[in-house]
Amino acid sequence: MGRLHFFSPEPLSPRTSLELGGSAEDLVEVSTVAEMAEALEWATNAGRTVSILGGGSNVVIADEGVSGLVLVPALRGIDIDRSGDGAVVIAAAGEAWDDVVAVTVTEGLMGLECLSGIPGTVGATPIQNVGAYGVEVSDVIEWVEVFDREAGYVTRLEPARCSFGYRTSCFRQCPNRSIVTRVAFRLRTDGRPVIRYAELERAVGSGGTPPDAATVRQAVMALRRGKGMVLETGAPRSVGSFFVNPIVDAQCLAAVEKAAGDGNAVPRFPAGESLFKIPAAWLIEHAGFGRGYRWGSVGVSEHHALALVHHGGGRTRDLVALAVAIRDGVEQRFGIRLRPEPVFWGFAGADPLDGGP
Ligand SMILES: Cc1cc2nc3c(=O)[nH]c(=O)nc-3n(C[C@H](O)[C@H](O)[C@H](O)COP(=O)(O)OP(=O)(O)OC[C@H]3O[C@@H](n4cnc5c(N)ncnc54)[C@H](O)[C@@H]3O)c2cc1C
Repeated sequence: MGRLHFFSPEPLSPRTSLELGGSAEDLVEVSTVAEMAEALEWATNAGRTVSILGGGSNVVIADEGVSGLVLVPALRGIDIDRSGDGAVVIAAAGEAWDDVVAVTVTEGLMGLECLSGIPGTVGATPIQNVGAYGVEVSDVIEWVEVFDREAGYVTRLEPARCSFGYRTSCFRQCPNRSIVTRVAFRLRTDGRPVIRYAELERAVGSGGTPPDAATVRQAVMALRRGKGMVLETGAPRSVGSFFVNPIVDAQCLAAVEKAAGDGNAVPRFPAGESLFKIPAAWLIEHAGFGRGYRWGSVGVSEHHALALVHHGGGRTRDLVALAVAIRDGVEQRFGIRLRPEPVFWGFAGADPLDGGP
């Protein structure tokens, strides 16, 4: 089979930010679309299911491992087209996301600076429509190029066809059908960063002139470090936020306020007409799982209650048991069932916490 090298089996924990989980039955890295097609043909002939792995910073892998072929898109390349309005940055799926952000900032392009410091690859960013500090990657996506496994060819999707939403997209809803090969981002050259969070506004200072992209990036990185939201050597391992912030209507918000009791103001942010986003971290802390809560080898981050962490030497089942305890604790206290953010591989259902993506 061509130049492809299959690892059979291949331990997956070193390929994930949690450093947890068993092995893949087979794993292959592909660096061109032709290799991707070849690997997929091999999987079909061998009767293997296919799972796509980027940087492993948003997957929870069962201790028993994953059956079938794990395909790692390792396509590389970053191009900048300045011929039209602003600039279009085209990045291949296997590029590290933060490297691409750094390049755009160095080039003085605006649009990605608030998404600095998010681990993982370019190809994964449209999957859950990554976001931070009030910016989502879909705000600047021009197109997503995918290998459509059902059609058997490469095609480009405009954002309108990607069903982007809060931490979701059509790719997340039909996992592993489309393999992202490249993403194009339309960025601005107007020197005006988008700053939607008061916390970030304070961090960049309120001088008369708008901060440049590099200043915003530095401020974002510092804020993220303070919350343990940057992958650093020696820090406990995580997938970032373990739960999505729930979006509720006024009736549900009133029920949460009642459950919280007097003297506990429930934080909320507007999230559309008569809808409110409640920080899941607040619900978790007020359900008794404070920062630094420890359960053997796993626990809640000391910096942010939304991040569940692996301190080393643990098993995925411990982390999942803690996540279930937190979800159930929040539900009992506030009547809200938290939805997990990462994807789960190798479990009986698609999602051991809720049975679906
Ligand atoms: C410390 C930390 C902080 C984080 N902060 C944030 C944050 O601020 N905002 C945020 O949104 N996320 C955040 N995350 C989550 C994570 O970094 C992102 O979801 C990231 O985009 C995942 O990239 P990845 O390459 O590691 O994907 P993986 O974990 O490998 O895969 C995630 C999903 O994407 C799919 N996928 C990956 N590559 C492709 C491809 N080329 N084609 C098709 N499907 C693919 C996989 O099948 C899987 O379903 C954080 C994670 C950590 C560990």
